[in-house]
Amino acid sequence: MAEPIDQLDPTTAAHPGPALSVVAPCYNEEEVLPEFHRRVSAACRAVVASYEIVLVDDGSTDATWSVLSRIAKDDPCVVAVKLSRNHGQALALAAGLSVCRGERVLVIDADLQDPPELLPELLARMDRGADVVYGQRRRRAGENPLKVWAAAVFYRVLNRLSDTPVPVDTGDFRLISRRVCDVLLAMPERHRFTRGMVSWMGFRQEPLLFDRAPRFAGRTKWPFRRRRRLARDALIACSTWPPKLAYLLGLSVTLAGSVLALTALLAWALGRPVPGAVGILGGVALLGGVQLLVLGVLGEYLGRIYEQSRGRPLFIIEAIQGGRAQPGAVRE
Ligand code: UDP
Ligand code: MG
Repeated sequence: MAEPIDQLDPTTAAHPGPALSVVAPCYNEEEVLPEFHRRVSAACRAVVASYEIVLVDDGSTDATWSVLSRIAKDDPCVVAVKLSRNHGQALALAAGLSVCRGERVLVIDADLQDPPELLPELLARMDRGADVVYGQRRRRAGENPLKVWAAAVFYRVLNRLSDTPVPVDTGDFRLISRRVCDVLLAMPERHRFTRGMVSWMGFRQEPLLFDRAPRFAGRTKWPFRRRRRLARDALIACSTWPPKLAYLLGLSVTLAGSVLALTALLAWALGRPVPGAVGILGGVALLGGVQLLVLGVLGEYLGRIYEQSRGRPLFIIEAIQGGRAQPGAVRE
């Protein structure tokens, strides 16, 4: 089955669009959508001349699609997008971004945990020159303390390992400029860890502190199993550390093995009794260590192949002055 990522076409951005697009992935959000539409529309009308709200139904099993199509029929500012099946939040978001045409794009969850009323403040920061203004949570009302703690630890570990820092306590709630949206669409990776991809891009990125509200209605679509998958995607997408681990492990085991083997050798040379276990252990550790080292080297190559196969743009030009230069993403 074709995934929407194949349909991503940054050229759609060439068409003139509204000042603002709001993009929200929706999975089984029938109870929330009317209120979401009301609050987001009110927030948009108050601050921008033209806007569109792109709502992506990520293969919901409840009445989300019929609610969405009704809203889209009544309100010409709403674009409803339906995916063929549940693709997961990141790909649903990518599909929404590929459809939206706004000069600026607000990425927001459909469950009203991210307050659309922050829009004026987000826009003001972008007016002052930021390309990305991301919501950073101050406090999470109504959330399981264990989950909050796990998230806090996870982001700190991720930041240690990640090649480019990913801001802590942030979700996908953010205002991005058109060029950031286009670069995001030019990244063809399938396991998308959107916030990591955005921080990798550079440009000026600013936080906006806010208090995250509890879900307006319905249940979280991210049980622990899915969060674990997200954590894995994040670690693998943001760093090439896992293969390096084999290398480091190999190095330490080789060192330990060498010390043991040398001790045995020295004892033998001095004519002292050599405990049999030391020699055997040393030999085994040496062999194991060397194997791990070789694996680590292979992993290093694998990591590079992986990085290359991600097909990310090699560099991003922020601005060029004069001539017929066109700033934007440059692909291989
Ligand atoms: N979502 C989605 N597809 C999925 C899971 C979630 O489009 O497979 C959407 C969901 O409708 C919501 C957003 O992603 O708009 C965040 O999901 P949720 O609120 O369940 O996550 P949490 O806030 O609990 O982390
Ligand atoms: Mg939520």
